[in-house]
Amino acid sequence: MAWNSPKVGILGGGQLGRMLTESANRLNIEVHILDAENAPAKQISAHENHTVGHFNDQEAVQELAKTCDVVTAEIEHVNTHALEAVASQVKIEPSWQAIRIIQNKYDQKRHLSKFNIPMADYAELVENTPEELAKIGEQLGFPLMLKSKTLAYDGRGNYPVRSKDEILAALEALKERPLYAEKWANFKMELAVMVVKTKDTVLSYPTVETVQEDSICKLVYAPARNVSDTINKKAQELARNAVAAFEGKGVFGVEMFLLEDDSILLCEIASRVHNSGHYTIEGCGLSQFDTHLRAILDLPIPARSVELRQPSIMLNIIGGATPDSHLQVAERALSIPNASIHLYSKGAARPGRKMGHITVTGATMYDAETTIQPLIDTVDEIRA
Ligand code: ATP
Ligand code: MG
Ligand code: MG
Repeated sequence: MAWNSPKVGILGGGQLGRMLTESANRLNIEVHILDAENAPAKQISAHENHTVGHFNDQEAVQELAKTCDVVTAEIEHVNTHALEAVASQVKIEPSWQAIRIIQNKYDQKRHLSKFNIPMADYAELVENTPEELAKIGEQLGFPLMLKSKTLAYDGRGNYPVRSKDEILAALEALKERPLYAEKWANFKMELAVMVVKTKDTVLSYPTVETVQEDSICKLVYAPARNVSDTINKKAQELARNAVAAFEGKGVFGVEMFLLEDDSILLCEIASRVHNSGHYTIEGCGLSQFDTHLRAILDLPIPARSVELRQPSIMLNIIGGATPDSHLQVAERALSIPNASIHLYSKGAARPGRKMGHITVTGATMYDAETTIQPLIDTVDEIRA
């Protein structure tokens, strides 16, 4: 069997699946996507072997598994019982066990605690009552972050509780969801590291700085600005250790908090390629999408290919006030030097929806910052 002949199944065909498909296409690797008809990833992969359906539907997962050699996912909120059911038929990378633990943020923290990964203190809510949260508040202090254990993304599932007066509002906002509370992390910067777990090693991309607005990632600076080499290395090591605690191969995204005293806490792990790693397409020899495919197919990944070639800044294009706001940002970017535009072809924009991103590289970080500033101004103008 030729090195590029295994068929790769992907649960989910959104922008991450689409960028994985872009990488696969360049190696003549066939990807089979499970998602709705004409999902962004399917649009760039013309063959008859895709599956129409939802990544939570057991039958659809079974149908997909029949057509491929290895199954992976672009999202952690998949039906891991469906994956478990096909595990004897097809390789699943990373393992369904890893995805199952990671998709529940409370289970993820309990698991990582066993491996001595530093994290903000946390406590489980069992009854979701005001009395229970008040008691936890006494223990963790205010403010604290109330979080849904499951189905969290883009901060939807988080509620900052500034004082005990906000307990009722917080429980109302997250009602009917399984909850835990987290001690507030007074960070001076948010960091992220993309980690690649292969059959025999754990590699890390450089430490980047992420900026979220309304809990959605807005900007990524690679490398993190004004961060010492020691911290850069320490964050990469923490990220590698955290990912090593899970079974299976592929790329994982690790989010961290850098505190005032330069200590680092893990925020959360994603068992997949990640928004904070999009800069690797232009910034590194191999992108996170390239290395994910190579890792799950046991193909070589030269360590130098995950080093940064040039300072890079990634700006998300998020749906704004009008249905074509995102196109205005992309249009402006057409005239910016060294700006690589990625539109996801998701159809109609909604406020807050990730529609694309732009990466600017520069000889220095200052150069990249100066180049991208007009685009950041445009994004701020069209914000919903
Ligand atoms: P994602 O889209 O990254 O999956 P999510 O919905 O899973 O996001 P988190 O990553 O847990 O949510 O939190 C989102 C953001 O909220 C963080 O990037 C950070 O800015 C803030 N945040 C989360 N936890 C804390 C905390 N304990 N203290 C302070 N801020 C926090
Ligand atoms: Mg998350
Ligand atoms: Mg997060």
